[in-house]
Amino acid sequence: MQGDSPVPRRREDRKRILVAGGAGFLGSHLCERLLGAGHQVICLDNFSTGLRRNIRQLKRSDAFSVIAHDIIEPIDIEVDEIYNLACPASPTHYQADPIHTTKTCVLGSLNLLELAVRRRARIVQASTSEVYGDPNVHPQVEGYWGNVNPFGPRACYDEGKRCAEALFFDFHKMHRVEIKIVRIFNTYGPRMRPDDGRVVSNFIVQALKGEDITIYGDGSQTRSFCFVDDLIDGFVRTMASRPSVTGPINLGNPAEFTIAALADKVVQLTGSRSKITHRPLLIDDPRRRCPDISLAMRELDWCPTVNLSAGLTRTIRYFDGLLARTDRALKEVA
Ligand code: NAD
Ligand code: UDP
Repeated sequence: MQGDSPVPRRREDRKRILVAGGAGFLGSHLCERLLGAGHQVICLDNFSTGLRRNIRQLKRSDAFSVIAHDIIEPIDIEVDEIYNLACPASPTHYQADPIHTTKTCVLGSLNLLELAVRRRARIVQASTSEVYGDPNVHPQVEGYWGNVNPFGPRACYDEGKRCAEALFFDFHKMHRVEIKIVRIFNTYGPRMRPDDGRVVSNFIVQALKGEDITIYGDGSQTRSFCFVDDLIDGFVRTMASRPSVTGPINLGNPAEFTIAALADKVVQLTGSRSKITHRPLLIDDPRRRCPDISLAMRELDWCPTVNLSAGLTRTIRYFDGLLARTDRALKEVA
């Protein structure tokens, strides 16, 4: 069902594609995929959570360029397609400067939508399962309006992304912009930051370092984890979908795990001797999360193919290499 998009043979099939947030975890994988498919890729990023090392390899290609820019400021460049991934995604990062997070979601989306109008570009918005808040409907279907605390610590992100969805639909109605909204459920893989604060990177780094594994609360809360390669396939298929497919469309892996089960799996796969410890549960931490992906299966012919053990094994290998390199570098300067 899936695989790399074919390399465009004809010059007119080659597109100029803007990836806002292209130096981040998901953005850098998307840039790589689009370059591999023969497109010209412009990575726009303010490098707040994104890393230059994520895109170092890509800079070797003539078809790749980088613009350091914050999307809360307007921008005008020639583009055919836009992916808006620019926004910190980890609760630790998006809560560090909540006002800037709201500006990024709202003003940033506005600026990119105005660019889409000027350039008649198709635009994909990276929305999130957080728009469902702490859901009362399970699994979450796109028609469910959610249960969000509008002024809690997660509100800057949850409400910011909800407002962005509203803006996308209003630009679609008023300016006929070709919009696509994907709601991403917890995605993990190589190039997550070791200090990201999200559960998969935290548990793997803790296990590899032999430190205590920190479960917040009793670990009975659930998440559904999607491997990055599957998600990127979903993105590309969304952009290529019929104009009438606006979304929102859930993208995620519907296999649901408790956080305690995830901790056990990481310990088992790393062979770590780390102990499991418990910390207080975070405010407004969703109790259950699992996507209904029927719409993506029907409209995009998309379905995740990498199971949790296989995806974790690849992610553990990545962090193992990264920590070994950091260790070596520290020894060299000592
Ligand atoms: P990330 O933090 O690694 O990437 C975000 C990128 O956006 C970084 O490179 C950062 O520097 C850049 N950025 C942030 N604010 C910006 C601004 N104002 N202007 C320009 N660049 C800015 O996070 P990620 O996991 O790669 O997430 C990418 C997108 O996907 C985000 O929009 C996020 O909300 C969404 N998403 C991700 C997940 C997930 O599980 N990874 C889940 C739901 C939604
Ligand atoms: N979590 C945890 N230990 C950690 C980091 C996170 O138990 O070190 C829990 C967190 O409380 C939440 C789940 O793991 O219930 C997923 O957290 P993450 O920050 O990865 O994503 P989100 O809450 O946005 O889904």
